[in-house]
This record gives sequence, C-alpha cells and structure tokens, in this order.
Amino acid sequence: MTQQQANAHRFAQPSGRASESFRRLKFDGNNAFQEKLRERVDAYFRSTGRRQRDCWQMYLKTAILLAIFAASYVLLVFVAQTWWQAWPLTILLGLGAAAIGFNIQHDGGHQAYSNRPWINKLMAMSLDLLGGSSYVWARKHNSIHHTYANITGHDDDINIGFFGRLSPHQNRRTFHRFQHFYLWALYGFLPIKWQIYDDFRDVITGKIGEHRFVRPKGWELVTFILGKVVFFSFALVVPLLLHPVWVVLLFYAAASWVQGVVLSVVFQLAHCVEEAAFPMPRPDTSRMEAAWALHQVETTVDFARRSRLLSWLVGGLNFQIEHHLFPRICHVNYPALSKVVETTCREYAVKYTEHPTLGAGLASHFRWLRRMGMPSGSPGRESGVEDEQETMTDT
Ligand SMILES: [Zn+2]
Repeated sequence: MTQQQANAHRFAQPSGRASESFRRLKFDGNNAFQEKLRERVDAYFRSTGRRQRDCWQMYLKTAILLAIFAASYVLLVFVAQTWWQAWPLTILLGLGAAAIGFNIQHDGGHQAYSNRPWINKLMAMSLDLLGGSSYVWARKHNSIHHTYANITGHDDDINIGFFGRLSPHQNRRTFHRFQHFYLWALYGFLPIKWQIYDDFRDVITGKIGEHRFVRPKGWELVTFILGKVVFFSFALVVPLLLHPVWVVLLFYAAASWVQGVVLSVVFQLAHCVEEAAFPMPRPDTSRMEAAWALHQVETTVDFARRSRLLSWLVGGLNFQIEHHLFPRICHVNYPALSKVVETTCREYAVKYTEHPTLGAGLASHFRWLRRMGMPSGSPGRESGVEDEQETMTDT
C-alpha cells in the first residue's frame, strides 16, 4: 500500500471496504453560497439572452483547431523533407493536440459544448483520436477530479506517482527535493503513459486509483478499442510506411511530449499552487467540512483572466474556479461569469484567488513543487494538514 492510499484508508474508510467508503465521502456545510451563485448565473443568462451551450464561437474554434491539427500532421508525415521543416510541425502538432483537448474534448466531455448529447459525445471522442480513452477520462475527470478536487487519495489528478509529490498528504522521497526542476520535463511523458498503459490498466482492473468504475461494454468497448487502433494507425503505422522506425518513434515521442507539458502545466496552475488548499475528510466523520461549492473555490486558482488570447487557446481553463463551479456551462462564458463569482465570493467571505499573469501562476507552481519537495514541506494554508513526520508514523 502506498502512503497515499494508507492516508485515504485512515481518513475515509473505517469499514476497510475501499469502493464503498470512497462513494460515501460527502460534503457538509450549508449550500447558501452555491444557491446564490446559481441564482445570479441563471439571472445573467436570462438578462443577456446568451446561450449556456451551443455557442457559435465553439463551432468556429473547433473547425480552426481541427484544421491546424490535420494540416500539421499531413505536412509532417507526407511533405516535410528536412529537420528544420519537421521540428516546427511537430511542435505545432503537439500544441494542436493540447488545444483540442482543452477546447473541444473537455467541453464535450462535460456536456458543456451543446444541448444535444450526441454532439457532446462526438466532441468528447476527439480524445480517442488523440490516443486517450474518452470513456476512462469521463470517470477520472468528471466523476472523481471534479467532485474531490485536491483531496489526497481521492483526486487522481494530484497523484502522479513515484516521481512527484503534489500534496502535503503524500509521502516524500529524498529526490523530491529536486522535483521543481525535473517534473516539468516529466509531465511531457504523461500522454504516452495514458495511451499505452494507464487506459488499459484502468479498463482491465475496473479501478481508477481506489475508485471502482463500470468497465466499458458493448459500443463503449468498441469505441475504446477502435479509438486506440485509429490513433496508433495514424501515430505509428502510417508514418512507418514512409519513414524509418527511429524517426517515427522520435517524432511521436516529441509531439506527445509537447502536448503533455502544455496539458499538465495548465491543469497544475489551477490546483497545485501555493494558494490552493488540500483539505482532507474529518477523521471522525469521514466527511468534508466545507460545502461542495466552497471546497471547489478553496482548492482552485484562476490565472491571467485578462488575457483573451490565452483564454481562447486554453479553453477557458485559466478560469478554473468558474469551471469547477459550473462545469456544464461552455467555457466561452467564463470571463463574464467570473465577475459574478468574484462578487459573490466577496459577499460570502470566500477567498477568490487569481494569479494576474501566466508567469505568476508558473512561479507559484514552481514554489509549490519546491515546498512539497522539502523535508519540512507543508502547505501555506491551514487545511487540516499534518507535517510529514506525523504522516509517516501514522500508518
Ligand atoms: Zn473539467
């Protein structure tokens, strides 16, 4: 058992039956803040006549991003003759894949793209085209990460395994002292790990971390398998018809690495920074003390809200507070909603945190990694945190 799993056992499952107790993790507190927010956001859409989903900007953006992705693939595989042609195309391909993930797949997966379920499903399946399983992602991201953000042992997004310590409740290894330098590069290998290992492991075991989920069956299983076949055909088989093995593997790894660094860093800036809380369930009740909406705001940080270009590129994921509160609303609405959310937070004395620029967010993630790698690494917020010695001796 890892230290992280041990902590989860200790806090969340007196019965010792993992899947049941994980399902039972509930939030306390009153819902007045959430109800007021919902009321104001509904009023905003009524008064402006804007759409929550099926926004024309999304269809335009989808066409642009898919065209860039397809063009960079075709030029790289069939046209490029020299290294100076191939490398920029590889970087563009990786960036295009990340942008499809942020903008198209993420909104589709949250049913935030359209009011029509089949359009959401189709958009979510762009992930299968990129080598990841939309079926597994929906369980991992929608059900687990969005409910249990930053709760160690529950939120699989903060569990990056052996090489990194992102939460104060995780075990520290000596080499984590240097993680603020090396993790940035390792983030790049996460997509390849998803594509060739994680998805298969999760589907075979029926588990994501300690959370059980229903394995894909029927058409879901067909989609899972077909997605992998189509992806590896485009990523490896077709290029191998034209290029040597080592060249194909090198460029596959490079494009995936670019995609992985960009995807990971954007998500890390929302939750793994100094200002985000890492609360745990109360040991006596196995329940979270804060109400669900308060938990989402306290564990999430926005960045660079005024940059329209960045917001466009990262699918509004610089507005993660708004996304965690309203995951079924299309991201093009987040800049407007953030004013409502910020005002309501102020009224209810809820701390709304933003890094003004991308650089400020990156610096905070760097400092958080450095702090978590230190022997005395403890968070800057009071969030039910133990120091490492306590954590180590408690199992
Ligand atoms: Zn999400």
